[in-house]
Amino acid sequence: MYPFQYQRPDSIPAAVAACQGEARYLAGGQSLVQAMKLRLSSSETLVDLAGIGVMAAIALEGGRVIVGATAKHAAVAASADVCKAIPGLAELAGGIGDQMVRNMGTLGGSIANADPAACYPAAVVGLGATVHTDRRKIAGDDFFTGLYETALQPGELVTAVEFPVPTRSAYVKFKQPASRFAMVGVFVSQSAGGVRVAVTGAKSHVYRATEIETALNASFSPAAAKAVKLSSAGINADLHASAEYRAAMIPVMAARAVEAALAR
Ligand SMILES: Cc1cc2nc3c(=O)[nH]c(=O)nc-3n(C[C@H](O)[C@H](O)[C@H](O)COP(=O)(O)OP(=O)(O)OC[C@H]3O[C@@H](n4cnc5c(N)ncnc54)[C@H](O)[C@@H]3O)c2cc1C
Repeated sequence: MYPFQYQRPDSIPAAVAACQGEARYLAGGQSLVQAMKLRLSSSETLVDLAGIGVMAAIALEGGRVIVGATAKHAAVAASADVCKAIPGLAELAGGIGDQMVRNMGTLGGSIANADPAACYPAAVVGLGATVHTDRRKIAGDDFFTGLYETALQPGELVTAVEFPVPTRSAYVKFKQPASRFAMVGVFVSQSAGGVRVAVTGAKSHVYRATEIETALNASFSPAAAKAVKLSSAGINADLHASAEYRAAMIPVMAARAVEAALAR
């Protein structure tokens, strides 16, 4: 690991002021510290967000669940508000990695990192969430822009994510067995505005499966999702799964998510 300076501000403005130039925010360190240990990443300064209590808050307000950026996965999974309002989101958080990762990893770190196989991006897009930063609000649909790329500007701090409460929702992933990242993960939500189906693990970044959305808007049933045949063009292929396999898995995971959502 290359040497670095460490700062632990106690407010959002102080964190943003400290994160200049080559400085980077440190959340739970689950991606960043590992990359630094391997010397794949270096920063002159790390700005630790753990001292900003307000950023870990979780609240249910007027039909929206607002999750602070430093809320740990374990806290989201255990939150009575999240379990009651958006059980699909609580289940997603409870299925990330292992207990240690869930005790350290954060919502903000997950979406800022934008791993193509991460679970939270599927909830952000699948629920039509809004990302709050220190300077603006970004629609979830516009947040993820590429492989490990987001709409965040240098030094921009994710402060919270606002999730609208759907009528029903669920997330199902086909896990990579060692890491539990998604080989294919599908978040399905149904609300007054229609059905959203967000897929992670299958392309450079999360996207909406519009063919499955159309089928589910006509009939919100597992059979309708499973009947959709998707092209493998543009789908990821790696040592874990071919593009054809992933393309075949997407309607299957969507069907399981619909089944889980209907069973609540
Ligand atoms: C063994 C293992 C298994 C995992 N399995 C899964 C899984 O199954 N599913 C899944 O979704 N994820 C998985 N993860 C990822 C994990 O859940 C974390 O969400 C992810 O690693 C980010 O970690 P972190 O929150 O500690 O952020 P950090 O590692 O501290 O930061 C990550 C990046 O985000 C930036 N950042 C952090 N917070 C903010 C913020 N508020 N605003 C702006 N930028 C910010 C940092 O500067 C850094 O660039 C796994 C990780 C490990 C190590």
